[in-house]
Amino acid sequence: MQYILNMFVMEHTKRVAVFPGSFDPFTIGHKAILDMALPLFDTVIVAIGINSEKRDFFPIEKRISHIKEIYANNSKVEVETYTSLTIEFCKQKQAMFILRGLRNTTDFQFEKSIAQMNRQLSPHIETVFLVTPPEYGHVSSTIVRELIRYGADISNYIPGKIE
Ligand code: ADP
Repeated sequence: MQYILNMFVMEHTKRVAVFPGSFDPFTIGHKAILDMALPLFDTVIVAIGINSEKRDFFPIEKRISHIKEIYANNSKVEVETYTSLTIEFCKQKQAMFILRGLRNTTDFQFEKSIAQMNRQLSPHIETVFLVTPPEYGHVSSTIVRELIRYGADISNYIPGKIE
């Protein structure tokens, strides 16, 4: 009976995922993960975490408009900012899934601890990991920021344009 009830709830609940990160800036690696996730969910909220400990490179408004522009024709993608714990933001948005991308074992070790902590805090929110396509395994916002600092061309690493 419980199983049938669960199946009913799953069938009739919108599948909302939160894709949290700094996205400073949003790279082709982030886009690959988001594009792979879109068929799995009804809505994916790209959630830009505002963290007072971290120094921004691109202003929040630029990051939001960059991602919104890339997905202007896809109504499944929403872009928001948040300042709370990720799971609190998920509850507020009635999202049952957290989306994260994995590039390597370092990402995996780090992500595993966060996912286990989140599960303990909120057992009903599931973390879903997608593995990056091999051609994007070396792409990170940190490296893109470094390229910008030295005036190098970043167009191969950024979808669309960011001012
Ligand atoms: P954070 O600020 O939490 O480190 P990021 O903004 O760097 O987050 O990235 C958000 C998510 O995207 C993370 O799950 C990260 O592992 C993933 N990600 C970043 N770059 C890539 C990439 N090249 N391929 C796959 N996943 C990636």
